[in-house]
Amino acid sequence: MFKRLADRVSLRRQISLLAGAIGLAIVGVTTIGSALLARGQATDMAQNALLQIARSMADRLDQDMAERQREIRNVGSLEPLQPHWMENTGGLRKVLETMQRTLPDYAWIGFADRDGQVRAATGGILEGVSVSQRPWFTDGLQQAAVEDVHAATLLASKLPPNSDGSPFRFVDVAVPVGDASGQIVGVLGAHLSWRWADIVRREVLSSRRPELREDVVVLDRSGRVLLGSNPGAVPYTAAALASGHFIDHSAEGARLAAAAATRGRGDYPGLGWIVVALQPIDTALAGANRLTSLILLLGLTTAVLGIAAIWWVAARLTRPLAQLTEAVDRIGREPNATMTRHVHGSPEVLRLSGSVRSLLRRIGTAEADARLIEAEASSAVHAAEDRVRRLGADLHAMQVLADTDVLTGLLNRRAFLPLANDAMSYFKRYRRSICILMIDIDHFKRVNDLYGHAAGDEVIRQVGRIVSEALRTTDKVARFGGEEFVVLLRETDLKGATIFADRIRQTVANTVFEPEGQCLRATISIGMAEAEFSDGDVDHTIERADRALYAAKSGGRNSVRSFEPKVLQSLQAAA
Ligand code: GH3
Ligand code: MG
Ligand code: MG
Repeated sequence: MFKRLADRVSLRRQISLLAGAIGLAIVGVTTIGSALLARGQATDMAQNALLQIARSMADRLDQDMAERQREIRNVGSLEPLQPHWMENTGGLRKVLETMQRTLPDYAWIGFADRDGQVRAATGGILEGVSVSQRPWFTDGLQQAAVEDVHAATLLASKLPPNSDGSPFRFVDVAVPVGDASGQIVGVLGAHLSWRWADIVRREVLSSRRPELREDVVVLDRSGRVLLGSNPGAVPYTAAALASGHFIDHSAEGARLAAAAATRGRGDYPGLGWIVVALQPIDTALAGANRLTSLILLLGLTTAVLGIAAIWWVAARLTRPLAQLTEAVDRIGREPNATMTRHVHGSPEVLRLSGSVRSLLRRIGTAEADARLIEAEASSAVHAAEDRVRRLGADLHAMQVLADTDVLTGLLNRRAFLPLANDAMSYFKRYRRSICILMIDIDHFKRVNDLYGHAAGDEVIRQVGRIVSEALRTTDKVARFGGEEFVVLLRETDLKGATIFADRIRQTVANTVFEPEGQCLRATISIGMAEAEFSDGDVDHTIERADRALYAAKSGGRNSVRSFEPKVLQSLQAAA
């Protein structure tokens, strides 16, 4: 099937198609390979960047929390403050408010006595209120404690609302406070606004380009969202978080995610928060996709240019073949086309062109040889034909000679008999009568004797001429030997024959023969017979005519006689 297809598609197309297919395959493989490589690298880079963000956010959270804890602990253990914890509420409040002013992240700082009653607090909020049930108080009574993010229970209505209207949430830091004797007198606690974490988030992200669309989510140790668009939800499995890298499939589309857990710092043990940094995959891979498109574009451009170049090269390669084919095709069709030109293009084409020219030369030589042989054969045939023609002419001449009497030029006996027999057959078939005349010159011996043999010959010739001139073309005369002639008259009965015979008898008798200047006269005797059905052949008729001649001679010569049985009988009787 491929062979049949290949027979129909030009060489130029075959080369171009093959090269094009190979080119496209290379472009395809290169593009896919580089796309995979670029995507892999871009994913790695994006995940590393996300991990860095998550790590630095987690570290910042740890650092800030450790600092807050240290600050509270420092304040709680300040010796100058020891006399004031239980006695000087107003002084203590001022100190606490000064602290709050230096760091607005403190939403509330207060001191509760051992019974849980707030003795002094920033803004005097909750003073006199019991916080004995609050975890920060109960834990803080034992040792330095931090409490995870929680909603405001007591403070919500007492504090000025958040600027964005979001509900208050706090992280609590608490330390036990002792008097000079080392006796625990109460708990110093601070509510750190959870908005602090959002500010940290913004600070961390501010070092990143916004078009990267990176974001950060903070989860508590059980995976619940503390900071993010959907607080309280548990968006990721523990396994995904443990792996460090995963894909987040949320309503905002697929996002690359990297997780880093807070680790605590110094005395601060950490709250087990998990920071997850996120970036939409299409943004993360935008560079890789652009690179892939560029490679694809370059590859396709190269492929198109390559195919065009190969199309051109294929044309160059196949053009000499087409030229050679056309030149060979012209040979034998056009009158002067006997040889092809040298066709250039490549060593192979040159060789093919040379071979074709050599083949044509050999064919030309063979043709010339064939023409020579044909010419020779033709001339041999002509010569043979000529010989045959000459032989025929000779044969004809010989035939004529053989059929002709040399002295008179009339037919001889050999030629006469077949003609006479033909006429005999005709007579028998169509009843057309024929007559035979036997003519003999009278006393010819005397002519010879008196005038010589040559004169005799001349007389014989002239008598023959007189007889033949008197005949119709259908009649025949022959010299039968000596001074005897025989005549065949067709379509003639005895009556007609008698008239004819008498006319020539008279003509001879009236003729003056002048052989060799001499002058003499001669007569002839004629015997006639008509063919009869009982005649076996013409010889029988001739025989009867001969007998009639005998009768004419006997009757005195210079006369005409026909064969009559009576005469014959009387002759036989006389004999
Ligand atoms: P007739 O017929 O009247 O009885 O007498 P004739 O003298 O003609 O007798 P015959 O026929 O016997 O003689 C024929 C002679 O003709 C004999 C021969 O010498 C002569 N003759 C035969 N052939 C030729 C020839 O070719 N040339 C010449 N000049 N003479 C010939
Ligand atoms: Mg005779
Ligand atoms: Mg005679």
